[in-house]
Amino acid sequence: MSTIHAEARLPLAARSEHLVGSVIDSSTSLLAGQTHDIVRLAMGSPAQDAIPSEALSAIPLASHAFDYAATEGDPALREALLAQLAGTSDATTPDRLTITSGGMQGLDLAHKLFTDPGDLVVVEAPTYTNGSATALSYSADLLEIPVDEVGLDVERLEAEVRRTGRRPKAIYSIPTFQNPSGATLSLERRIRLIELAREWGSMLIDDDPYGLLRFAGDPLPTLHELAEGDPLVFSVRTFSKTVAPGLRVGWVDADPSLSRLLINAKQAMDTCTNLPAQRQLAGFLDSGGFDAHVADQRIVYKERKEAMHAALTAHFGGRATWTDPDGGFFLWVTFDPPVDTTALFEVALAEGVALIPGNAFSPGGLFPHSMRLCFASTPPERIAEGVARLRRAVDRLLQE
Ligand code: PMP
Repeated sequence: MSTIHAEARLPLAARSEHLVGSVIDSSTSLLAGQTHDIVRLAMGSPAQDAIPSEALSAIPLASHAFDYAATEGDPALREALLAQLAGTSDATTPDRLTITSGGMQGLDLAHKLFTDPGDLVVVEAPTYTNGSATALSYSADLLEIPVDEVGLDVERLEAEVRRTGRRPKAIYSIPTFQNPSGATLSLERRIRLIELAREWGSMLIDDDPYGLLRFAGDPLPTLHELAEGDPLVFSVRTFSKTVAPGLRVGWVDADPSLSRLLINAKQAMDTCTNLPAQRQLAGFLDSGGFDAHVADQRIVYKERKEAMHAALTAHFGGRATWTDPDGGFFLWVTFDPPVDTTALFEVALAEGVALIPGNAFSPGGLFPHSMRLCFASTPPERIAEGVARLRRAVDRLLQE
C-alpha cells in the first residue's frame, strides 16, 4: 500500500491522503508488462478455460442493449437473478436488490452510506485490502482483528471492543473461503457476529463472492440468511468469481429502506451498471447454464487445490504451513523459518512465478512472512511447475 501525497499547489481534498493503492490490482499491469513465462498464482481470477465466453458471446445484443440502463439494474437481469437466488441462502426480494458494477461498488456504496471520517471499521487480519481501502477512502479508522482456521476471531473482537469501549460503526467480513486465507467462519461465530452487530448497532458488511464455489464440506447459511432481514446486514455479491470478472457486474442485498439512498449514490457515481454485460448475464442465467457451470468449476478448483497442496508438500514440507480451504480460490502460506515475501516477490518473478506478498492483505502491513497463492486460474501441471519455481526462488533468496 502506498499513500498518495498531495502535490504542491493542487487543492487536493483531505480525503485524498487516505487513498491507498492495491498491490493486488497493480499486479495485473505489472505482469502484463513481463515478457518471460510466468506461472500466475497472483490475481484472484477464475480459470480462463472456465469462463463461459462462448455462451456469453452468443447472447444477441440489439442496439437498445447499448443504451443507459435503470440504475437499480436492468429488469431482465433483476428477474433472472431473483429466480436464480430463490431457494438458496442468498434468496431475496426485488425491494432489497441493487445491481452494481462489481462487488467493489457494493463495498464503496456500503461505506459511502455508513462510514464518516474517524468512524471505527473492523476488518479481518488478513483481509481483502481493496475492501479495507474502500473504508479508508471515507477516512475510517481501521481495527484489524485476526482470522484463524474458522474465520474472524469473534471472541477477540468482542474483547477488544469491550476493552476500548469503542463500538465499531461497521464490521467488514468475508465469511466464506476468505480472501486471502481461505478460512470459513463457523456457524457459531456467524451467529455471534450478528448478535454483536445488533448489540453495538454496527453495520455488518457481508462480502461473500466465493460461497458457491465449495468443493468440500457442507454449506453453511450465509450471514444474509442467518440475519433474517435484519437491516444491519448489508450483503455484497458479485458474478466476478462464478462467471467473469471483466463483466463488472455484482449486486447489493440490503434493507429496502436503503434502496433510494443506494440509487441516489449510484446515480452520482456511474448512472447504471454496464448494460451489455447485464444482458449477457441475464441471457446466461435464463439459459439455465449457470448451475452446471458452477458445478463444473467446483470440480476444476478441487483438483487445482489438491495439486497445489501436493506441490507445497513436496517442496516446502517442514519449511512452511498452508491453509486447506473447502472452496474458493486461495491458499495462505506462512514460512517457517521466516522468509520476507516482499523480497521473495521480486526473486519469484525472475524465476517465473507470481504471488502476492502477505503484507498486501493488511492495512497495517502485518504478515511479512506469508503469501497468498491463487490455485483457481492455473491447471494442475502448471501449478506443480509454479511451486517448483517458488522453491528455487526461496532457496535463492535465503542464499543471498
Ligand atoms: N470482495 C472480495 C473478497 C474479493 O475477493 C473481490 C475480488 N477479488 C471483490 C470483493 C471484488 O469483486 P469485483 O471484482 O466484482 O469488484
